Amino acid sequence: MIDIKTNIAEINAQIQRLIAEKSEPVTVVRLVAVSKKQPVSAILQAAAAGQRDFGENYLQEAVEKINEIDDKSLIWHFIGAIQSNKTAAIAENFQWVHTVDRLKIARRLSDQRPTRLEDLNVCLQVNIDADPAKAGVDPGQCRELALAVRELPRLRLRGLMTITAVDKTPAESERSFAAMRELFLSLQAELGESEFDTLSMGMSRDWPLALAQGATMLRIGSAIFGPRG
Ligand SMILES: *Cc1c(COP(=O)(O)O)cnc(C)c1O
Repeated sequence: MIDIKTNIAEINAQIQRLIAEKSEPVTVVRLVAVSKKQPVSAILQAAAAGQRDFGENYLQEAVEKINEIDDKSLIWHFIGAIQSNKTAAIAENFQWVHTVDRLKIARRLSDQRPTRLEDLNVCLQVNIDADPAKAGVDPGQCRELALAVRELPRLRLRGLMTITAVDKTPAESERSFAAMRELFLSLQAELGESEFDTLSMGMSRDWPLALAQGATMLRIGSAIFGPRG
């Protein structure tokens, strides 16, 4: 039996323990429960346990679940690959998008964000290892993209996001997270901490390493919900 409530409580307790052990000033760390391929019943259990932020990858599945749950206190994060013909539905249904890696997509999200909603929070997905097989903006192009995205009227550029490859050793993941932190801090120095405050990295397999390297948002799925259906 998967006990979602206990899993969330244990992860939150571990987050607090790891933050307390850090030498640096305490940052707020936000847990995004990744509910892709999980039923509505599982999301409702997590919400009943106090979880507010949820991450989804597949647009159609996500929109169906968002509409069925219809709970305005929940915050929905789009963390999947973005096809340009899907941007309108993303702009209409989510409060956060973590996977923006080109200006064309950012422009469409800004143009299509309904005026009745608050500005859409955006993180730029970074291909931190410049792996040709992976999505994300190359680190060397990140600043230019950030400056352009920041000018778009209906978006609020909040930070950076990365996904580490499954086959990495812990030492390799740690190096990638450290490189993300460097890039994040250099952009933050330029853009200002109050707006640019989010470093989204760390999943079930590697989140403690990400937290040690300064992650402010963890995206955790299977460690909360168990294997995906
Ligand atoms: C699926 C997914 C996660 C969560 O993965 P788990 O291994 O289940 O924790 C986090 N981020 C992204 C972008 C994902 O696609």
